[in-house]
Amino acid sequence: MDAPRIVLFSTPLISTWVFDETHRILFDAGDGISAMLDSLIHKIRLAAITHTHRDHCAGLMQLLNLRGGAGDFTVIHPDGSGSARTLAMFLSSFDSRSTAKVTWKPLAENEQFDIQPARHFIRPFPTRHYPIQDPPRFMSAGYHIVRYVDKVRPEFRHLPQEELDRIRRERGKEALCETLEDILFSISGDTSPLDPDVFYKSRAMLHECTFMSVSEREEMENYGHPHSCLEEVLDVARSAEVERLGLYHISRRYEDEFILGKVREACNAMKIAFPVSVALPGRVITDIFSEEVWHGFR
Ligand SMILES: [Zn+2]
Ligand SMILES: [Zn+2]
Repeated sequence: MDAPRIVLFSTPLISTWVFDETHRILFDAGDGISAMLDSLIHKIRLAAITHTHRDHCAGLMQLLNLRGGAGDFTVIHPDGSGSARTLAMFLSSFDSRSTAKVTWKPLAENEQFDIQPARHFIRPFPTRHYPIQDPPRFMSAGYHIVRYVDKVRPEFRHLPQEELDRIRRERGKEALCETLEDILFSISGDTSPLDPDVFYKSRAMLHECTFMSVSEREEMENYGHPHSCLEEVLDVARSAEVERLGLYHISRRYEDEFILGKVREACNAMKIAFPVSVALPGRVITDIFSEEVWHGFR
C-alpha cells in the first residue's frame, strides 16, 4: 500500500504543521500555514492538535478564519490541555462569523474519532513532552490513522476458496473473518522516546527527531520540554517494525548536509531495513515519503 501524501513544514520553536493530503487531516497549525499551504487549506477537513506550544498552533486563527466559515471543519485536541480549551473559547468568539462554526472536540487518551472514508478513524495516544502532572493530565498527543480490515481467521487461511465460501454461506461472515486494525499513518508529536508498542506495525511513521545525538538531547532536557534524538527514533521504529519512517521537527542548529549525512551513517550502523525520509527544517516538503534518504533493504 502506498504511503499517504504528506506535505509539511517543521522548524522547532518557529512553526510546525503537517498536512496528510490523502486523509485530509492537518496535524498542528504553526505560524504561516495558510500562506504556505495556500489553496490546499480548502482540502483540510480536520485539524488535530498535538499540544499547544505556540509553534504548533499559532496559525490556527488565520486558518479558521479562512476555512471555518464553511461549517464543515473540526479541531480535535488532547482533553487535558487547558490552553486548547482557552484557545477554543477565544477563537469561537473572536470573529464568530467564521470561527463559531468550527466544531472543537477534546479527545481522551486512545478515544477513537471517526473520519472519512468508512471504517477509518483517528486515535490519539499520550506522549512525553510535559512534566508529569498530579493527577495525570492528557496534555500532549500523537495520533494514528487507522482502518478496520476483515481478515480470514488463522485457522481457515489454508483452505481453498470454495471451502471459505461455504463457511461464509453456512456460518456467516463473523465466523469466517476477524476484524483487525491496520495503522496507515502515525505521527509522534513532540515527545521523548515512547514504548515501541505504541507504533507497532504502523505502515508510515512520522517521528520528531529534534536532536542528532543523545548528549545534545540530554543537555537540552534541563532547559525545557523533552524531545527525541536520531538513534532513539531509529531504535523505536525498528522495534515497532514500521514499514517506513519519516523524520521531522529537526533542530535548525544543524546544516542540511550534516543532517543527511548523520541519518545515512546511523541507518547504516544500525542496519535499518525500512526506508527513511527526512523533512529538513526551514522548508516546505511536498511529499515526504516519496523521497528517501535511506532506502533500507528490499
Ligand atoms: Zn515543537
Ligand atoms: Zn513542544
